[in-house]
Amino acid sequence: MKKDNCIFCKIANGEIPSKTIYEDEHFRVILDLGPAARGHALLIPKEHADNLYELPAELAAEVLPAAKKIAAKMRQKLQCDGLNLVQNNGETAGQTVMHFHLHMIPRYENDGQQINWIPGEPSEEELEAVMRQLAE
Ligand code: 5GP
Ligand code: ZN
Repeated sequence: MKKDNCIFCKIANGEIPSKTIYEDEHFRVILDLGPAARGHALLIPKEHADNLYELPAELAAEVLPAAKKIAAKMRQKLQCDGLNLVQNNGETAGQTVMHFHLHMIPRYENDGQQINWIPGEPSEEELEAVMRQLAE
């Protein structure tokens, strides 16, 4: 289902033109207009889901196989040295467009880009507590 006034619904379904590099029954993959690196693409489902939580499991299962195809193409055609997959859920996590999308960011030696976090230094007790919280 499409959502009114959702820009990625319109892009994914071809109502708004985009620099499309791949399309199949479920997804459109487009170039990001504000790329972190050359070839930065967004894999967008044609069906609307706000985020990963809302994405139907069957569609979620199609995401990585599609991404794998694009990843191979990026390596072959762009000769990138690496690839980051980034997927933001929620404003707090940096999501700005509220339609699920997977960032595919080819990386090049010395591209000067940073896709990083500050590593924490949890105690053994804290790690144990988190593990118990999540594993139960
Ligand atoms: P988010 O921050 O939600 O994970 O990522 C949104 C991404 O969509 C950003 O990298 C931004 O550059 C990109 N973007 C936003 N609007 C458009 C658009 O209209 N067309 C394209 N191709 N990319 C867009
Ligand atoms: Zn949408």
